[in-house]
Amino acid sequence: MSATEGPKWSFSRSKLYASCPKALYFAETEGPTGHIETQFASLAEVVGISVHEAISKEIQKLNPGTGFNVTRAARDAAELVASMSASMRPEALRYRREVGPNAIRARQTAAWKLLMSFGRFVWPRYQGHTVISRETTSRFEIAGVSVSVKPDLVTRTPDGNIVVTDCKTYADTKPEEELLQLSAYIVWAWQKFRTPIDSIEGWIATLPNGEIREIRGSPAMADEITARIASDVSRWTVIAPEYFPPHPGPEKCSVCPFLALCPEGREVTALMTAKTSGDNE
Ligand code: SF4
Repeated sequence: MSATEGPKWSFSRSKLYASCPKALYFAETEGPTGHIETQFASLAEVVGISVHEAISKEIQKLNPGTGFNVTRAARDAAELVASMSASMRPEALRYRREVGPNAIRARQTAAWKLLMSFGRFVWPRYQGHTVISRETTSRFEIAGVSVSVKPDLVTRTPDGNIVVTDCKTYADTKPEEELLQLSAYIVWAWQKFRTPIDSIEGWIATLPNGEIREIRGSPAMADEITARIASDVSRWTVIAPEYFPPHPGPEKCSVCPFLALCPEGREVTALMTAKTSGDNE
């Protein structure tokens, strides 16, 4: 959001701001073009990325709803877990003690379980659907704001509805975040496919328990997401530290990619490390 660009919004940016405004400030000013290296913060994040990539690769070879090859997908995910684990940040490793081959093997097993759940409970729900796209980033406009979305899967049902899916590799999702993310996806699909908004469904597939939660598009939903986007970008007009205060917490700071730049984050993680060391003595 530099002075030369118009306002931009994405679910991840909005979620990051809600979690810690200062983290969004760093993401805007120190992002991939800055000196912050894009390294993975935790093995859980590595598992999530690996499982998404393995599912996407496998779906490319399949008819929707039929014959998901868990073994092949798990092999792909295991290779990704091992190679990406080399890119983890040292402070996350220290805090979470996620080091060594045993930790990596445990995460490869976790990836396999998630893929089993996807193959057994989630993928069959797409039987008869036509796959439109997988993991594709798209941009569109809402009220003059450039919005980017990246649904994991977009399909068309046999009766012509559009289904936009996000897969979660963790179970503790927040309902308000799910609604926000799916609302953005649904409004994107509404514009893209020029179909009635109530014929668009948003699905959250929660892989740890194989559940799918569904919501359907509505004009009220479009109004709400439009208002939320306008409200968010109005707070992001001037990218200066005073408008992006820190909201530190030990869990989120320990995996924050900007920890090295943030005194407040270092303070809470140092306290946590001291407490953990004391508990272990
Ligand atoms: S380290 Fe903590 S307080 Fe600092 S930017 Fe990251 S999440 Fe926010």
